[in-house]
Amino acid sequence: MTKTYKLKVLAGDGIGPEIIKETYKIIDWINATSDIIIETSEGLIGGCSIDKHNSPLTDETLDECKSSDAILMGAVGGPKWDNVAYDIRPEAGLLKLRKSLDLYANLRPAKVLDALIESSALKPEIVKGLDILIVRELTSGLYFGTPRAIEDLDNGEQKGIDTCTYTTSEIQRVARVAFETARKRSNKVTSCDKANVLATSKLWRQTVTELHKNEYSDVELDHMYVDNCAMQLVRNPRQFDVIVTDNLFGDILSDESAMLTGSLGMLPSASMGGEDMPYLYEPIHGSAPDIAGKNIANPLATILSMALALRYSFDSKALAQKIEEAVSAVLADNLRTSDIMSEGCKEITTSEMGSAIVAKLNG
Ligand code: NAD
Repeated sequence: MTKTYKLKVLAGDGIGPEIIKETYKIIDWINATSDIIIETSEGLIGGCSIDKHNSPLTDETLDECKSSDAILMGAVGGPKWDNVAYDIRPEAGLLKLRKSLDLYANLRPAKVLDALIESSALKPEIVKGLDILIVRELTSGLYFGTPRAIEDLDNGEQKGIDTCTYTTSEIQRVARVAFETARKRSNKVTSCDKANVLATSKLWRQTVTELHKNEYSDVELDHMYVDNCAMQLVRNPRQFDVIVTDNLFGDILSDESAMLTGSLGMLPSASMGGEDMPYLYEPIHGSAPDIAGKNIANPLATILSMALALRYSFDSKALAQKIEEAVSAVLADNLRTSDIMSEGCKEITTSEMGSAIVAKLNG
């Protein structure tokens, strides 16, 4: 029986529209060949929305997102909007979307494909076969805590203030996602914190330990300080399966893990929230204004984000796997966009890459 899903597509700025265009080729292939139908509708987010509505995400677009089954986003931002008011900057649209949908868990897989092993900043023997997943808390911690201000002091100096807070339930729900996901992978979670210094981290460690004891004792758990984790990720990254950590540490560690795989242009992400809210899928890279409009951006992170949507929102694991295999097969044919180009390979454009994936899917 055919099942229909509603996908809200927010292409955004810079290379966003180019990489989303290629992902549409995959969606068209799914609609033509599989037993699911993906109904798409488009909306504005980021700079393009500021230009039209003076808001990086209108309430109307937000409501349309809420009534869809999943959201696929390109990227937001660029120098054109560097000087807009802080509260309507392009990124504020993305933060509003995450907060409104309560997308508290950000999943970022970092996988080293054999064909791209030479693109990694590390030696092949260290990263060969690497397959890790970072689960980052996304709606609390230092990025959302108040008070937040720059205050004028009597002595003429200024003082910057940020606040980091976490509650037990905020930690429990993201840790639960990590344990559940680990059960479907290699059954190991590393919880990363700074419990030797920070109160929020002390609560984090205590809460994760308790949850593990009560509900997930079948999963292997260890705790690691964030500075050690940053070091271990470059020393011996294959020791990890799932890493769960807070908003700030996750932001940094997930970019570090991205470099283990070689290119920002290859890495998808999924953000998950409450049961009745749609999940958000997006590449981890930004809007790459330096290459926008040149048809050279790598669309694979967005295409792989679509594969995650199939896996987590559209109950279509087999289709997700097919797309992931098509990506590996195209790379094994030595076809590359410029960001992952290496000797002996053929450089192709953004649109040629999208078409090459579809050709593999049809093949
Ligand atoms: P970026 O990720 O856009 O680019 C960093 C470098 O990687 C650039 O040299 C770029 O050309 C390259 N790159 C990125 N994606 C690529 C792809 N798919 N194919 C080939 N090369 C790619 O980060 P940045 O330059 O720091 O930020 C640019 C803009 O994007 C800023 O306005 C920033 O605020 C925004 N941004 C948005 C998001 C998001 O939408 N989630 C995330 C990060 C940055």
